[in-house]
Amino acid sequence: MSEYYNVADIFGENVFNDTVMKERLPKKVYQKLHKTIEDGTELDLETADIIAHEMKEWAIEQGATHYTHWFQPLTGVTAEKHDSFITAPDSQGKILMSFSGKELIKGEPDASSFPSGGLRATCEARGYTAWDCTSYAFVRHDAAGATLCIPTAFCSYTGEALDQKTPLLRSMQAVNEQSLRLLRLFGNTTSKKVTPSVGPEQEYFLVDKEKYLKRKDLIYTGRTLFGSMPAKGQEMDDHYFGSIRPRIAAFMKDVNEELWKLGVPAKTQHNEVAPAQHEIAPIYETCNLAVDHNHLVMEILKKKANEHGLQCLLHEKPFAGVNGSGKHNNWSITTDDGINMLDPGDTPHDNLQFLLVLTCIMKAIDKHADLLRESASDVGNDHRLGANEAPPAIISMFLGNQLDDVIEQLVSTGTATHSLEGELLKTGVDSLPDLMKDATDRNRTSPFAFTGNKFEFRMVGSQDSISQPNVVLNTIVAEAFKEACDVLENADDFDKALHDLIKKQATEHQRIIFNGDGYSEAWIEEAARRGLPNIPSMVDAIGALTTDKAVKLFEDFGVFTEAELKSRAEVLYENYAKEINIEARAMINIASKSLIPAVIKYITSLAESVNAVKAACDCDISVQTDLLKDCSALLAQAKTALSQLEKVTDAGLEMEDGKARAEYYRDVVKAAMTELRAPIDKLEIIVDKKMWPMPSYGDLIYEV
Ligand code: ADP
Ligand code: MG
Repeated sequence: MSEYYNVADIFGENVFNDTVMKERLPKKVYQKLHKTIEDGTELDLETADIIAHEMKEWAIEQGATHYTHWFQPLTGVTAEKHDSFITAPDSQGKILMSFSGKELIKGEPDASSFPSGGLRATCEARGYTAWDCTSYAFVRHDAAGATLCIPTAFCSYTGEALDQKTPLLRSMQAVNEQSLRLLRLFGNTTSKKVTPSVGPEQEYFLVDKEKYLKRKDLIYTGRTLFGSMPAKGQEMDDHYFGSIRPRIAAFMKDVNEELWKLGVPAKTQHNEVAPAQHEIAPIYETCNLAVDHNHLVMEILKKKANEHGLQCLLHEKPFAGVNGSGKHNNWSITTDDGINMLDPGDTPHDNLQFLLVLTCIMKAIDKHADLLRESASDVGNDHRLGANEAPPAIISMFLGNQLDDVIEQLVSTGTATHSLEGELLKTGVDSLPDLMKDATDRNRTSPFAFTGNKFEFRMVGSQDSISQPNVVLNTIVAEAFKEACDVLENADDFDKALHDLIKKQATEHQRIIFNGDGYSEAWIEEAARRGLPNIPSMVDAIGALTTDKAVKLFEDFGVFTEAELKSRAEVLYENYAKEINIEARAMINIASKSLIPAVIKYITSLAESVNAVKAACDCDISVQTDLLKDCSALLAQAKTALSQLEKVTDAGLEMEDGKARAEYYRDVVKAAMTELRAPIDKLEIIVDKKMWPMPSYGDLIYEV
């Protein structure tokens, strides 16, 4: 490609999108597919055959030899199994390229090695993948050549969801149904469909590939398990929004280019707070597309980094003592005719509708704070949430001064009569104050902040799928809408019932609003006083999935069955123990094979030099001997801690999977890891840098 090009020309060139389908499919087939996409009707095999054929022809023109059902099992990353298009050779030894409708809409990967949390007995190892035609197929180019990727859902033989996509699609249906009910109450007869929109802001670190390859901890676990802070930390905040260096800029250019070709609307990029930390955000899209595209963003970041001699670290906390990475999940609900239900709006009834929507969301978040917290937990995120870093583990909502004041007035007097100064928007209703159009103020410490016309959920981990947070958001909001509609649809006096309901919801759930500093000690105490849950770790959070409240919620809206929820909890406990076990094993390996031998070498050379100096002169050698003593003491401490870590890790392997095992890894194994890290990090500062076998934090984050 020439150096300069028009983005519009390349955008979506690797995607079998609407334009391509319109161009290539017979009109009738195109219309049928559209009906399926819009109404969720099932695609018949005959139509699927024609689509599959055209899709294959198009993919072959792009150089594709293989196709894959691209799906999202409970491992957190995407999975795929590749099949080529070739048929068996005929009698002349010739092959054809074929792809049937059946192959397009349904795949049968051998699913026995994907986590199912006991949902699938080994005798029925088969899993099914089914094409999600609301997410376009695309061709991906990489070392394996070109592959047609078909976004799919993944279910067990008996129809239980084994993936992230199936429940997401179910939750989107729930929001759609209940939002339409709510809109109709306000006289809207035109909107036909309501979908959640999502814009995820992805944070990541970039380090030099060669240095990365010398860090076994980064290779095995995605984070450093040893390492002391460099002399310069991030105290200066001079990296945030700073100018982007040429090497990084060249990487970002390639990332954008590839994402655009894949139809991902990459929009913003900038340096983040920590050195070597950056962010990329696409323009928001329909929820399930945004989830798929976020997986692509993570994939392309890694791939392009590799091509630039870099390594992209998506882990939530690659470096202790340096700011970690998250993913801000911007969420709103929009109708097919362009109404954002979270927009305060500019006509009277829209504003009342907005206040109802707003107080419904307050109710949803307050009632299901535990579920929302759970949806953002993964092993890496435990280093951020509740650990003095953005954001705290307590769920609260930030509304900004104007909206907060509206709620306050509604609660204290039952009617709100005025509003704070600012850019005003007339509600036209005497009992309600005028609203501020934009929440111009910001609160970076809030986990769930209203930002003008959307909510920004800031707890999600950087390497985690954004699927589960959106499943939860969609479902809990659908529930609050449903409950409101149940009341209002049966009211004799709609206006009065509406007024009363807004007031009731604002009053009952005002405790979830917090506009202060979410990082402060005072907030932790205040939140406890308000009775808000403070769930500090992933292991504690998982239980939220299987409470009676959660089972009822998810079953009512057909998002998860109780069996699916239990299986997910089981998978999470298992994953937790597994990941900490890998970290502990990696520490043991690195300490015993590399770091401790290096310290011994250093001590030996120190001892030799002490003897040499002693032999040469009668001068003061106390500095050397003190150093020798310090190092030896720390070495002994490290060796003891290493033995202890080995012991507790071995014991963990003996335990049965489940909550108790996950707790053991969190409480016992992690504590032993900390004990080993402490003396070794101290030694790193003392030992001659030339003898330390791994690049330091400084080497990694300041020399990219
Ligand atoms: P910030 O100032 O927090 O960086 P931006 O306006 O840049 O916010 O948007 C961050 C993300 O939110 C982007 O992905 C953007 O497309 C998305 N976004 C903007 N408006 C909406 C909306 N109404 N619904 C969902 N996401 C949105
Ligand atoms: Mg943001």
